[in-house]
Formats: sequence, structure tokens, C-alpha cells
Amino acid sequence: MSSSSEKKKPRVAIHSITGCAGCQLVIYFIRDKLLELLGEIDLVAAPMIKGKNEEGPYDICFVEGLVASQRDLENLKKWREQSKFLVAWGTCATHGNVPGIKIFMDEKQVEEAVYKDKSNLTGENTPLKPTPLEAHVRIDYRISGCPPEEIEFLRMMQHFLMDMKPVVYNEPVCVECTQREIKCLLEDGKECLGPMIRGGCDALCPVVNHGCTGCHGPLEDANIPQMLKLLKANGIPKELVKQRLQKYAGAKFEELGADIR
Ligand code: SF4
Ligand code: SF4
Ligand code: SF4
Repeated sequence: MSSSSEKKKPRVAIHSITGCAGCQLVIYFIRDKLLELLGEIDLVAAPMIKGKNEEGPYDICFVEGLVASQRDLENLKKWREQSKFLVAWGTCATHGNVPGIKIFMDEKQVEEAVYKDKSNLTGENTPLKPTPLEAHVRIDYRISGCPPEEIEFLRMMQHFLMDMKPVVYNEPVCVECTQREIKCLLEDGKECLGPMIRGGCDALCPVVNHGCTGCHGPLEDANIPQMLKLLKANGIPKELVKQRLQKYAGAKFEELGADIR
């Protein structure tokens, strides 16, 4: 009988495309727990912290960022082919958030502001409409957050290591508020999008008396018309909700329905 120490370690990769690197940093800042985890996995590719990185096959590949260029797209497709499980890590990857704000602006103006010289925007540098990973490849798991929480990474890795199907938390922020016995900010007329936003952050903002601005992106089954009614009744204008959702729901904003547009 083979002992657990003889079990083949899963080959793990942490890759990124267009984003700010904040989602990867969450993983690297776990430090002690990550070091512990490194005894049980082979971190074969993590270009942000390793000089030597291996191509697949990968058992698990985390991808941070959204597709905004031809290079992003080619890399993403390659990692999909090389990976057993592909995880969209962070709201850029799941929704196409902050860098996707370009979608709501004049494309020409944005490119002129960002690029002094546009002559090299060809080949793999060709800009593409910012889109989440699922617009291009099959995704096995989505963990949103700008950035996501370290506990969600650790929980997912634990499930993989125990050969369990990972379960991603999928309740609104309000549930964690209730669990932490936080007085609802809406009662005091404060802005909070918590009812329509995926939690998993342990109500990080409401706990410090700050309304949820929606960084985990909207829940897939969020009842937007109902939420808008509730927020309006609490003095929160639709325009503000729209701005927040454009920032974090990004490329998936259009899918939220006509009520918010
Ligand atoms: S989700 Fe937020 S933290 Fe992560 S890469 Fe995008 S902008 Fe950065
Ligand atoms: S403070 Fe926000 S997240 Fe918390 S219960 Fe109220 S609406 Fe929900
Ligand atoms: S409360 Fe909202 S904005 Fe704050 S970390 Fe959680 S999901 Fe993000």
C-alpha cells in the first residue's frame, strides 16, 4: 500500500494576463501557510516569484487577469490545453473588471491616453475587447474578489489535496454580516451593495462601517430589479449602483439585464 508521502504531488501553476498582480500577491502573502502547502504541491510555474517556470501539464492552474490582447488570448488557450483544472482567480478573471472599464469609454480616447506610440499595437500586442476568461475557454472554478481572499485559495487547495470537488462560497455579503452580528448599514442610510454581491470576504467592509462597493462582483443569480428597488428605498440612486457594477461586473455588466442600464 502506498503511503500519502508517496502520493504524486499535484503540479500547480499561478499565471497572469492583464491585471494588476494583486490577486497573485494575496497567494504569495500567505507566507507560512503557503510554505506549509509547498510541502504537498509542486509549484511548477509562478513567474512572479520564480525564475524558472515549467510548461504544463498542470493539475491546477490559477489564472489572474482578463483577456485584453492577442498575447493574453494565446497564453490563456495554451494554459487551458495544459491544465486539468483551470481556476479564474479574481474579479478580472471572472467578470473582466477594473481594466475592463475601457468598455464603457471611447476606445480611441482611451488608447490615445494610454499609448504614446500606437505603432506597435500589432501581432501579439493587438488590443482585444476586455473580456473574462470564460468568454474564450472553459473554466472549472471561478473565485471572484478584487482581490480574492486568501482563505478561498487555501480552502480550494485543501479540497484538491483531499480529492474533493472544491466548493466555492456563493452567498451574498449580507449572510456574513448576519453571522458577525453587524448592524445593517442600510438602516442608517449608508450605501451598501452587499445584497447582490458574492461574499466570502467575511463582510470586510461593513465590519468597519463601510458599505460594500461590490469588489467580488454580482452573484450569478442576483435579482437585480429587486435589489435596485431595495437600494432605492434606502436612498441609494441607481446611477451609483450602475457605476459600481460597471467597475466590478465589467465585461459582464451587460448580462445583468435592462433594469440596471
Ligand atoms: S481582480 Fe483586482 S486585484 Fe485582481 S488583478 Fe484585477 S484589478 Fe488587480
Ligand atoms: S450592511 Fe450591507 S452587506 Fe451587511 S447586511 Fe446590510 S446590506 Fe447586507
Ligand atoms: S464587503 Fe464588498 S467591497 Fe468589501 S471586500 Fe467584501 S465584497 Fe469586496
